Amino acid sequence: MSEIPKDHPRYASLLTREKIVEGVEIGITSQQGLVAQGRGECFDYLTGEQTTASAFLAEKVSVAMLLLAERPVLSVNGNAAALVPDSLVKLSDVTGAPLEVNLFHRTEERVNRIIDHLKDNGASEVLGSKADARLELQHSRGIVDSEGIYNADVVLVPLEDGDRCQALVDMGKSVITIDLNPLSRTSRTATVTIVDNVVRAVDNMIDLSSELKGLDEAELRKIVNDYDNSRTLSDAVRQMIRKLEELSDT
Ligand code: ATP
Ligand code: MG
Repeated sequence: MSEIPKDHPRYASLLTREKIVEGVEIGITSQQGLVAQGRGECFDYLTGEQTTASAFLAEKVSVAMLLLAERPVLSVNGNAAALVPDSLVKLSDVTGAPLEVNLFHRTEERVNRIIDHLKDNGASEVLGSKADARLELQHSRGIVDSEGIYNADVVLVPLEDGDRCQALVDMGKSVITIDLNPLSRTSRTATVTIVDNVVRAVDNMIDLSSELKGLDEAELRKIVNDYDNSRTLSDAVRQMIRKLEELSDT
């Protein structure tokens, strides 16, 4: 990994970039993942590289949904595995939602590398290698585990592709995504859209889990029922407009 001086004004962002590059080098992230990261960084600039109030609310609602779910699953792709492997393992522990490796550019080798990488970061069991069920999608993009995503009622899919998000929603699942682009098809299709960097979102969700675990079922249901995802999406776009207006005035 390249040496980044700690006092660099964009230290956090550069570190994230280095982690993705390292993910490609060790064979867990696809080259297309680099392009996706660049797209995400652009939108992160526009939100001021911090968790907004509406993103934090979406994170809270997502944790409530995961705690209420009967069969929750956290889907892990090559970018998420490179950026937040330890945090995903922690989030899985505190919510009781198993991890499943699910790749757009799938090879068995990459699936196994990611499973090993998550285990190196503390996971005991990781789904995704059975590959015994299919979503309504062409080619390898629809390959899932029957005991994981296929039968899940709530799925967290960070940095997901629009078609696959739609396929999961069409199966009647509640789909939570983490996606910095509020305009992507995924953001517009998901049940709950967290417009935040996965690096911040997952850690916030771990903290929120400890807080929400103290609530009873009715209180958790109220948090979920009061939520309106279309407001989250318009807040995210409005936030970006405000930021651009601010910059154009200076
Ligand atoms: P869609 O298929 O949903 O229309 P897309 O084809 O542009 O979107 P994908 O490559 O399918 O994008 O999914 C990656 C998404 O993840 C992009 O919207 C990108 O902005 C977002 N993204 C990339 N890096 C991060 C990150 N670190 N945190 C959160 N979101 C990110
Ligand atoms: Mg896509």
